[in-house]
Amino acid sequence: MPLPNTLSSLPRAELIAGPTPFHFLERFSEAVGVEVWAKRDDIGAVSLAGNKVRKLEFLLGDALESECDVLVTTGAAQSNSARASAAAAAVLGMDSVLILSGVEPAQPTGNLVVDRLVGAEIRWAGDVGWDRLNELVDEVASELEAQGRRPYRAPVGCSSPLGALGFTAAWFELTDQLSEADLHPSAVYHTSTSGGTHAGLILGRAWSGSGPAVRGISAGKVQDDPVGHHRGLALEAAGLLGLDDLEVEVSVDFSWIGPAYGVPTEASDAAIRLLARTEAILCDPVYSGKGLAGLIGDAPSMEGPVVFWHTGGWHALFHPPFTGSLLAR
Ligand SMILES: *Cc1c(COP(=O)(O)O)cnc(C)c1O
Repeated sequence: MPLPNTLSSLPRAELIAGPTPFHFLERFSEAVGVEVWAKRDDIGAVSLAGNKVRKLEFLLGDALESECDVLVTTGAAQSNSARASAAAAAVLGMDSVLILSGVEPAQPTGNLVVDRLVGAEIRWAGDVGWDRLNELVDEVASELEAQGRRPYRAPVGCSSPLGALGFTAAWFELTDQLSEADLHPSAVYHTSTSGGTHAGLILGRAWSGSGPAVRGISAGKVQDDPVGHHRGLALEAAGLLGLDDLEVEVSVDFSWIGPAYGVPTEASDAAIRLLARTEAILCDPVYSGKGLAGLIGDAPSMEGPVVFWHTGGWHALFHPPFTGSLLAR
């Protein structure tokens, strides 16, 4: 199904070369006892890999159209979203300011190495929550405006309604690949936190009126009411397309988070090792490993085939605190 006009006519910065690969995971499927296919959003240039790039295509399309010259965004110290944002800004000739929680480490690791290399200005926010980080985006943007700059604001995870539309477009990309493979999966699994990925996909499903169920596996509750938040995000995104009476179905499983966001679990470590040993595909302990653990947990009751939407995040494997338990076995 071609991308509907209202979506394809929105300004979009081209950051992804074409559809991301979609393929069968033969050895992994055998190991988990269900037919699993992978949608490979983990693939891309090191700096521009992962699910945030899809949201950035729409956000930065808008930023360029508004003639903004500096991107202001935020996240955790190891934020994939902040890293991809800084990289995308560099590619498009914009500056970037990243407001990261925590304090500056003695030695940059993982995503921070990329942030520094692509020339982002980093401001350390100390130990603050997501709401405060989003407020800081506004404060820093106002400060830049006062200096005559034209800042573009992107929230935690780039999960604004416009950003979520990146995953509505992605839904149509996947359904094209499913038709081509003549595949009818029962569900698409992906990791969820700030909600843009889930909101965009459930909007795509509601709009196209058919297709596999969308199952989010939460890697952390970053809103008080994530289900209400994600539904609101999907409906606001629908509003941007002039779609007013769609019924979206939020489906997020919160049972795989473990002790907290960013804390590896035994199940995610085992999932990461299994996918690496069977397919040499790398997931991370903060996000995609937890999503994969959720898929493996549901496998006994699944009617295959299913799709694992690999949202990326493997950069965190090069941040030693996340990898200790993973490599200890
Ligand atoms: C941000 C992120 C997610 C979650 O996506 P949201 O749209 O924020 O819910 C999943 N996986 C990885 C690797 C991420 O970086």
